[in-house]
Amino acid sequence: STLQTIREKDPEIQAFLSLTEDIALEKAAQIDEAVRLGSPVGPLAGVPVAIKDNMNLKGTITTCASRILENYRSPYTATVVDRLLSAGAIPVGKVNMDEFAMGSSTENSALKRTVNPWDPERVPGGSSGGSAAAVSAGFTPISLGSDTGGSVRLPAAFTGTLALKPTYGRMSRYGLVAFASSLDQIGPFALSTRDLALVMDATSGRDPLDSTSLDVKPDFVSALGQDIKGMRFAYIKESLGAGNTPGVQAALDRTREVLESLGATFSEVSLPTLEYGIAAYYLICTSEASSNLARYDGMVYSGRVAADEFNTSMSRTRGEFFGHEVKRRILMGTYALSSGYYDAYYSKAMKVRKLIAQDFHRAFQEFDVLVTPTSPFPAFKFGEKSADPVAMYQSDVDTVSINLAGVPAISVPAGYETVDGRELPIGIQFIAPALKDERLISVSDAFE
Ligand code: GLN
Repeated sequence: STLQTIREKDPEIQAFLSLTEDIALEKAAQIDEAVRLGSPVGPLAGVPVAIKDNMNLKGTITTCASRILENYRSPYTATVVDRLLSAGAIPVGKVNMDEFAMGSSTENSALKRTVNPWDPERVPGGSSGGSAAAVSAGFTPISLGSDTGGSVRLPAAFTGTLALKPTYGRMSRYGLVAFASSLDQIGPFALSTRDLALVMDATSGRDPLDSTSLDVKPDFVSALGQDIKGMRFAYIKESLGAGNTPGVQAALDRTREVLESLGATFSEVSLPTLEYGIAAYYLICTSEASSNLARYDGMVYSGRVAADEFNTSMSRTRGEFFGHEVKRRILMGTYALSSGYYDAYYSKAMKVRKLIAQDFHRAFQEFDVLVTPTSPFPAFKFGEKSADPVAMYQSDVDTVSINLAGVPAISVPAGYETVDGRELPIGIQFIAPALKDERLISVSDAFE
């Protein structure tokens, strides 16, 4: 019935790039059989899941919403996807995204335009726009996205869903197509904190195939239903500026009221280096991307423009099959890493990254959870920012520093703003110290 609903309703939303019907039906039959025999089934038995199209699932096409990988068939399965399947979840399809996860609206997809289920004239956010839309539209109760600078949190805020960006290293990156390896994390979407916790317990933890994964056992379900009395919250002062819309301001106020009524204390704290977050992030992520995307040379992967000579074929392939934003980032990153500019740009950005991490560390000496809007505004219209890359980059002002610091954050629905006669969801972001991901589940569950 999930596949049927998607077939009927997705033509309006355009979240799915492909359906994995054969795998889904086979998995479902296996679970039915296990239930019939009275054999044990996993905690997510029979739960349909949508997977962002930058995660490998053996035998399926993994495009990264790029023409350069349009026909690339995965020879193996990503660890997080594999664990989700072992828990009994049923993969129903691969969903749309900004090409190679570069963007904040999913408009950079080379393959499809996904609309926001709350308003078809508006973007679902990005880069995991398909994952957010699939859950928001009710196609699947959970989905997987990835977050390098906000890509699960921003679309969650724009679509009235919840999403968690775990501490760097808590989710294996094996089988997730690399964008900026020191920032990338897989994160789940859901409509309830409980569902997020179930996914995290099933997927998080050390993976010998990813040397950056941490040996920390997940304990998310036990974090549900906890008392948050006495917990010390603080707004990050730098996120409270005039840039926030009235609806976002109201959501911030409401958050405080709700949390205080639950016995938490509320304050304000300044993290002065956050001002440089966007600049540092866009230097570091483009630098890493320029290196990671060097592998698409027209030889190993599918997209190729043939020529007599290797360099000609490579440059024509990349010229033809990469989209504008991907090219822009490869150029920026290559420039920032080149000799003579490395010290001025990349190395300086890395120093700023360290200062940002220290700012967070300092704030967490005094507070348990930091609070910002997930975004200064609700979902914007198609075309509103796509002509101006810097305006698009500014959408990430509240999210990128968290990836630079490696700490966990969650986006939770916190109200609505009526724009042009339509209600649009607003998200609030809770941030915890490294490895305290479970605390965010307690807070989100209490706040819900
Ligand atoms: N919007 C940010 C970017 O374009 C974040 C993307 C992401 O988290 N994948 O880089």
